[in-house]
Amino acid sequence: MTESEDIAEIRRAVRALCADYPGTYWREKDRERAYPAEFVDALTKAGFLAALIPEAYGGSGLKLDAAAVIMEEIQAAGCNGASAHAQMYIMNTLLRYGSEAQKTAYLPGIADGSLRLQAFGVSEPASGTDTLSLRTVAVRDGDHYVINGQKIWTSRAEHSDLMLLLARTTPRDQVTAKTEGLSIFLVDMREALGKGLSIKPIRTMMNHSTTEVFFDDMRIPVTSLIGEEGKGFRYILSGMNAERILIAAECVGDAKWFISKATDYAKDRSVFARPIGQNQGVQFPIARCYAQMRAAELMVHHAAHVFDQGGNPGAEANMAKLLASEASWAAADMCVQTHGGFGFAEEYDVERKFREARLYTVAPISTNLILSYLAEHVLGLPRSY
Ligand SMILES: Cc1cc2nc3c(=O)[nH]c(=O)nc-3n(C[C@H](O)[C@H](O)[C@H](O)COP(=O)(O)OP(=O)(O)OC[C@H]3O[C@@H](n4cnc5c(N)ncnc54)[C@H](O)[C@@H]3O)c2cc1C
Repeated sequence: MTESEDIAEIRRAVRALCADYPGTYWREKDRERAYPAEFVDALTKAGFLAALIPEAYGGSGLKLDAAAVIMEEIQAAGCNGASAHAQMYIMNTLLRYGSEAQKTAYLPGIADGSLRLQAFGVSEPASGTDTLSLRTVAVRDGDHYVINGQKIWTSRAEHSDLMLLLARTTPRDQVTAKTEGLSIFLVDMREALGKGLSIKPIRTMMNHSTTEVFFDDMRIPVTSLIGEEGKGFRYILSGMNAERILIAAECVGDAKWFISKATDYAKDRSVFARPIGQNQGVQFPIARCYAQMRAAELMVHHAAHVFDQGGNPGAEANMAKLLASEASWAAADMCVQTHGGFGFAEEYDVERKFREARLYTVAPISTNLILSYLAEHVLGLPRSY
């Protein structure tokens, strides 16, 4: 497949920016579990995180396929886009369902970097993948909503000004369809922090800046509601398709990094007086990963195309995420094996990327739930849960 010159130019520009953030930078952040603020600032200044924002609001008005390429190149360069990817996928909900007043109020600031939209509060400790059972409630009180509840795994909450929050506005036993009664809010965390909002970091196996978030009578203005009350689940599903496609693109980028790193090492490392890459036992796993990555890449492009054409990419987005997360994880494992003992040494970056890549068969949606979606919605098999 040949790409347009515009997309090729985006790839070159992202690669050039990433060259200023080598393994030493990421290793230090990883060791300290520190947020890569300089990298995120550089991406913002270069306009990459405003790719999806229409030009009228200060962005570049690009489509999801271009955003996917940006995220892929970041990962392929050995950087970690998880520090900033939410701004891209949350954006979609605001663009599609936000009012003109909300877009005018927030988008220019997000585009110029003075406002950060990096937090997405959906997951809760008790409900897990069963989003429709979430317990965080928003109760209307005059010109405000009062929020009570808890979120978990709300990544980057400490490094974001705004949070897209999913909460229940009508009790589950009072709605006809269980997908009704949930609403989406754009919460200004600068106003709420310490006034009903508290954030507690969770230390994880990789540097991900994830947190638990607690709402204790947090009051937010009614103007924070996105779209119509009670329709939030429908809105968020469309945003989740964008999220899955972008994360799948990141996985393709990771797979490319692992494959390139393993190939270079296999050419260079000599054991038994010949390069290890001369052994088919070393070549074949690399070649297999390459084929797997290319197949996933095609599905990512296809899913982004369906999304950009305004179609419903539910099946394609899920398949892209499934294939790409499996391709990146297979490539991560292969890369460690190819490096032998050096795969475990910090200075090679392989073990860091290995830990980072592990996330994506679990989040933002686990492999089982994707298979379940395909079984039920594409193949027509009986619903299992
Ligand atoms: C580092 C990190 C960052 C994250 N960032 C965010 C974020 O920013 N915002 C946010 O909202 N969430 C975030 N998440 C949450 C993430 O989306 C969830 O962890 C993920 O969706 C899985 O949900 P769970 O952890 O509750 O697992 P569970 O729902 O408890 O599932 C556990 C396991 O059981 C399996 N399982 C459950 N039900 C079924 C079934 N019916 N059939 C077959 N298998 C099943 C699942 O596939 C999974 O493997 C993050 C998670 C992590 C770890």
